Amino acid sequence: MTRGLSGAVPLAHFFLRERVKPGDRVVDATCGNGHDTLFLAELVGPEGRVWAFDIQDAALAATAKRLEAAGCGERVELVNGGHERLAELVPGPVTAVVFNLGFLPGAENGTITTPATTGAALDQATELLLPGGIVTVAVYTGHPGGPEEEAAVDAWAASLPPARFNVWRCRQGNRSSAAPYLVVAECRA
Ligand code: SAM
Repeated sequence: MTRGLSGAVPLAHFFLRERVKPGDRVVDATCGNGHDTLFLAELVGPEGRVWAFDIQDAALAATAKRLEAAGCGERVELVNGGHERLAELVPGPVTAVVFNLGFLPGAENGTITTPATTGAALDQATELLLPGGIVTVAVYTGHPGGPEEEAAVDAWAASLPPARFNVWRCRQGNRSSAAPYLVVAECRA
């Protein structure tokens, strides 16, 4: 069955499916409810490793439950900490780092990703990449703080030297300019 490209996250998965192989080491920088973590755990298989970060206990618990139900828990290290500690806590290098910015769906406590920590984490993520590795960033601008975070992602993307990185900004051509979009940075082989 053909999988649709109906938004920033399905498009990120399209790139990740192409790039991540069994046995790889990858990072979910914002595990939330664990959908991306499980997707990555399935791609890397039992010989691979996923580091999954979040700062909310509820997110880590939801992710642990999802992984356990799928029998993938052993290949994932859940990190109760901010992704701005990526370089400290992930013994690189890795094939992919996945960011899905914004707030935890279903939570009402107002915890969102923020420009300063997102910017620091993105800088560290690009330094962890293997040649051919990718960083994917699903960006949301419709909530308070969203435009500031968009600016931080743009600044990071623009700072990456073309000799070392290919950087793509993917927006849907038939949606409002406020719709979520995807940034992909590839470390050149
Ligand atoms: N990828 C998730 C999924 O598949 O369900 C959705 C992620 S949700 C849009 C964003 C998450 O980022 C929230 O769970 C939030 O707690 C988390 N977050 C916010 N600041 C963070 C930080 N500094 N480090 C790691 N996670 C953070």
